[in-house]
Amino acid sequence: MIFGVPFDNTSSFRRGSRLAPDAIRYAYGNLESFESSYGVNFPDIPIADLGNLEELEDVTAVLPLVEHAVSVIRKDGKIPIMLGGEHSITSGAVKNFSGSSMVIIDAHSDFREEYMGSPHNHACVTRRCLDILGKDRIYSVGTRSVSREEYESERFGEVRFITADEVREKGIRQVGKEILAGTEKSVYFSIDMDGIDPSYAPAVGTPEPYGITPTDVRYLIHTLAGKIEGFDILEFSPLYDNGNTSVLAAKLIQDFIGSKETKKKFS
Ligand code: MN
Ligand code: MN
Repeated sequence: MIFGVPFDNTSSFRRGSRLAPDAIRYAYGNLESFESSYGVNFPDIPIADLGNLEELEDVTAVLPLVEHAVSVIRKDGKIPIMLGGEHSITSGAVKNFSGSSMVIIDAHSDFREEYMGSPHNHACVTRRCLDILGKDRIYSVGTRSVSREEYESERFGEVRFITADEVREKGIRQVGKEILAGTEKSVYFSIDMDGIDPSYAPAVGTPEPYGITPTDVRYLIHTLAGKIEGFDILEFSPLYDNGNTSVLAAKLIQDFIGSKETKKKFS
């Protein structure tokens, strides 16, 4: 069940992610409707798009709306696929996932207690999710931008930050194995598009060099698909897009749906 959240009011650098839900839909419509790597024909899969939530300015008003939308979708036995918007909205969705694990793709640790006067700024979202899920439940992959204050925070070790360099050193298969073994049977998967290298995903609110690759992310989605019960994609800003980032965001959603449906497994 797809829905969009056109919200980017806490973005600290480049705004525009409020325009992302519709841009991702447009790109998705241009993808091939059959995916041969999974043997999945997408028109055969029941997927509903609820449209966008109301566009609001205040994050403390948006979060309860997101929490409610995800709660309704889950009570109906469906899997929420949320199109952001900026990363702050994820904590609203995760409120419905206590007892679950979480995998985040992100260049940033997003581990500030508060930023620019708000504990719900997008730079605080991993910290807020830690408050909800508790320690040893969150894996954040692709990390390469951490403030000294975050790094020295007592709670920093309660999240497993897997840096982009560690992914390159160990290889994504090893990383996938660790996450698969360490997560509960229900996983919320959150993609901040800036986790991916800006050469592949330039149109993001806060770009950061030396990132992981789109196929790294695709591999993790595919490996964890059996456990994933909630999915989102955030921080894409169409204002800076040359066309690459929107189609990549759309493709990652197709990879999630295809991986959920397929009987085939990547080696
Ligand atoms: Mn983020
Ligand atoms: Mn980020």
